[in-house]
Amino acid sequence: MQVAKQNKRSSGERPKLCILPGEGAAAEAMLSSVAVLDALQLPLEKDMLDVRTMTNEEMYRHMDSSHATWFGAMADGVNLLGYLRWTRGTYANVRPVQYRENFNSPLKHPENIDFMVIRENLEDLYPPREGDVAELKEIAAGHPEWSKLEDGIYALKVISEKNTRNVAQFAAELARKRKQEGHPGKVTIGVKDNVLRKSDGLFRDVAMEVLSAYPDIEVEKCIADALFHRMVLNPHSLDVVLLPNMLGDLLADGAAAMVGGLGLAPSACIGDDYAYFEPVHGTAPDIEGKGIINPTATLQALAMAIDYLGFSNESAQLNAAIEAVYREGKVLTPDQGGTSGTDEFCAAVIKNLKRGEEI
Ligand code: ATP
Repeated sequence: MQVAKQNKRSSGERPKLCILPGEGAAAEAMLSSVAVLDALQLPLEKDMLDVRTMTNEEMYRHMDSSHATWFGAMADGVNLLGYLRWTRGTYANVRPVQYRENFNSPLKHPENIDFMVIRENLEDLYPPREGDVAELKEIAAGHPEWSKLEDGIYALKVISEKNTRNVAQFAAELARKRKQEGHPGKVTIGVKDNVLRKSDGLFRDVAMEVLSAYPDIEVEKCIADALFHRMVLNPHSLDVVLLPNMLGDLLADGAAAMVGGLGLAPSACIGDDYAYFEPVHGTAPDIEGKGIINPTATLQALAMAIDYLGFSNESAQLNAAIEAVYREGKVLTPDQGGTSGTDEFCAAVIKNLKRGEEI
């Protein structure tokens, strides 16, 4: 769970991490996971934000004075996430899809599944730009096809050269880093360019051009529907998968289910000078107050955050400690077939971190 990019800050500047636990059971996972961060004893400043007492504007100021944010989930976090995403320009959404021993995967042979979904994070069909078809007909008066549209609502899809270039560059660097670690070093571009010839065609062309500067990286293009099919049948053929925003949103959640579900799916959103890290799941209100939410995705997001802040060794140690808890299989939460609680899981991770130090 490491990321290809590290935060740029002046030398000697102490890294600062905003921590926003959010709401519901997701906040319980975060608060238990903070004990794991503390056990790592990193030289970083923690800035705890509280949605119950702070205004959004106050939180934006805190985020702006930090190097990254570690985020839980909120029932209505649209404005905060919008700030972290669009105002801070975090263009690459990184979604690791990595099976580890004893993950509760529904597949017969999930062993060694290990690929990364890189989803463009700023455009395409999100943020929503929707309107009445009648208005569209007015704007596009005289357009032979548009004037025939049935009444209804339209949604605008935008692909730009700039954002595609940024995210393709990120995917290329990540593939190169993974190749050094023994992975194939391949980027699979998934698009619907057989239908969306201009928009997804531009995404394909710009991504191909960026990747042509990386002769050590293999590149392939796949039509997105065939890619989704292949992901389930032959996930081992994937290394880094690069997708426009909405296709990436869909494929990454399907990929998370393949390795064991939402409790095991972390996410990073990375830009040129800021990044935020979160579990993919929401607030999980149905298990709030029960102390059983699986904190794995929250901890994996933390592992990516500290890697981004420059603590790569500690990030690897944290990942290894999480994997050891699963390998031992004694302290697992109910979603993974166990009977343990959130705090017990985090305590087991801390125990493994300490054991790792002694070896
Ligand atoms: P929200 O409205 O905040 O999106 P939600 O319930 O619609 O919440 P999730 O929070 O993603 O969506 O939860 C979907 C289901 O998966 C719920 O049944 C929830 O309990 C379960 N779930 C999500 N995350 C975890 C986790 N980390 N551990 C255990 N179960 C989880």
